[in-house]
Amino acid sequence: MGVLAVDLGGSKVRLAWCSKETPAKLKSQRTIEWRIQGFPLQVDTLIDLLRTYLRQCENDCGSVEAIGIAVAAVIDHDEGIIKVGENLGWRNIPLRSCLERELGRPVRVDVDAFCGALAEAQLGSGADQRHFLFVVVGTGIGHAFVLDQRIWRGMHGAASVFGHLKLERDTIPCYCGGTDCICQYASGQGIARLARQQLSCPQIGGEEILHALRRGEKWVERVIDSMYNALALGISHAMNLLDIECIVLGGGVVQADFPDLDVLYRRLDELVYPEIRPIILRRSSLGADAVLIGAGLLAME
Ligand SMILES: [Zn+2]
Repeated sequence: MGVLAVDLGGSKVRLAWCSKETPAKLKSQRTIEWRIQGFPLQVDTLIDLLRTYLRQCENDCGSVEAIGIAVAAVIDHDEGIIKVGENLGWRNIPLRSCLERELGRPVRVDVDAFCGALAEAQLGSGADQRHFLFVVVGTGIGHAFVLDQRIWRGMHGAASVFGHLKLERDTIPCYCGGTDCICQYASGQGIARLARQQLSCPQIGGEEILHALRRGEKWVERVIDSMYNALALGISHAMNLLDIECIVLGGGVVQADFPDLDVLYRRLDELVYPEIRPIILRRSSLGADAVLIGAGLLAME
């Protein structure tokens, strides 16, 4: 017996079957690019996709008792309503009730960063910590505070918007409607934006930037310097405000050798209030699967 874990992001949806006995060992993983079917994502499109996958999963892996969905959005957790999901083009979508009606199983919906933090707290890099900050760097940047081993959701379920902390005023516009958000410098999108600016080249993506960095190309240093600066400023503010010492970095942009934790550590060492020591900086041990595993754990709750 198991559950279906779903990670619904701004361009693709990842799916896996997750057993109750070994939730970190995902089976039958699949990734589907939904943007090719148009924007915003239609709930009916998602339902069709899940229905097809459910049938395959039940043939290949075993029964599916419940569904857990991690979404890059601000969510009413109790009701399972997506309040705002800019990268999905969604506003006030009663996702849980729609899916329960159509798929005939209990559905739980939560913020992707909260799901990732849940997995790290139970099975990953935060398992030995009472409190930590999980920062997930992907297309955008999200976060979750785990305080006394519980996710802190905030007053509006929006305690996940690390990427929209402001660094300056009124220069670079952000898709959230604000300006100069951290994600415009330190997310996958932000790093690509800075690289395009440096090279005056409209076609450059994350992979090319990482390759340039590994080859030691000069132009990329300024881009990466802005990224470290933005990330360190945001993380240090969070550490100083909450007196938190452990940071777990996850998400698609975080790789085995990137970002360099020693570089980030040195910047934090300058910015974090001296009494807040040691500074414990770790990569997610669950890597790119943290959010998906968390969606599985959510469905099992
Ligand atoms: Zn923003």
